[in-house]
Amino acid sequence: KSFDDLNLHPNLLKGVYKMGFQKPSKIQERALPLLLQNPPRNMIGQSQSGTGKTAAFALTMLSRVDMDLKQPQAICIAPSRELALQIISVVQRMGEYTPVECFHAGRDSVKRGMPKLQQQIVIGTPGTIIDMVVKSRVLDLSAVKVFVLDEADNMLDSGTMGEQSIQVKNLIMKIAKNPQIVLFSATFADSVRNFATRFAPQANEIRL
Ligand code: AMP
Repeated sequence: KSFDDLNLHPNLLKGVYKMGFQKPSKIQERALPLLLQNPPRNMIGQSQSGTGKTAAFALTMLSRVDMDLKQPQAICIAPSRELALQIISVVQRMGEYTPVECFHAGRDSVKRGMPKLQQQIVIGTPGTIIDMVVKSRVLDLSAVKVFVLDEADNMLDSGTMGEQSIQVKNLIMKIAKNPQIVLFSATFADSVRNFATRFAPQANEIRL
């Protein structure tokens, strides 16, 4: 199978090939047709890092946002700042030929009195994203149609203090309309299963 068969926008295909990807990885081949189907369906995917899941959800976000609308439409959360930065780099490289803007929700990226974000894709840890919604109020969730959780097991594990788990649930409840929920996790622990049952109903499920 080839990336050409996945119904990607020509500008996204160009970005994919520029990154040196020749053909889709197994998870990309299986997940992308499901992720891009209309009407959108939720997805829970079990996958380790190294399988190419980042590109799968990056292409989903890039495919679904409306470039002409200068408002956040895809949110991606990850358990660490390092991972969030890696995701941004993939989104930006794949989107090289696509007029889409991406914002990293870092601790220092939000200034007091800043106008509302106009970038279509916003990526960060659950804590920084929720702060942008409720504290600095620069992030308006009203146009969000895709919500991606990467390494969901790490965020939802109530092990240490469960702080991120609370932030993730708070955040998802603030997204008013029903966005497409895309959840990737290395394991389907109970915490992930329970979360998915409640917040990502009728999801397509992929295990690698
Ligand atoms: P990930 O699992 O998303 O962390 O990706 C693991 C590594 O695989 C990254 O270095 C990607 O650049 C690379 N990769 C992802 N998809 C492909 C592909 N279709 N062809 C070649 N390399 C890929």
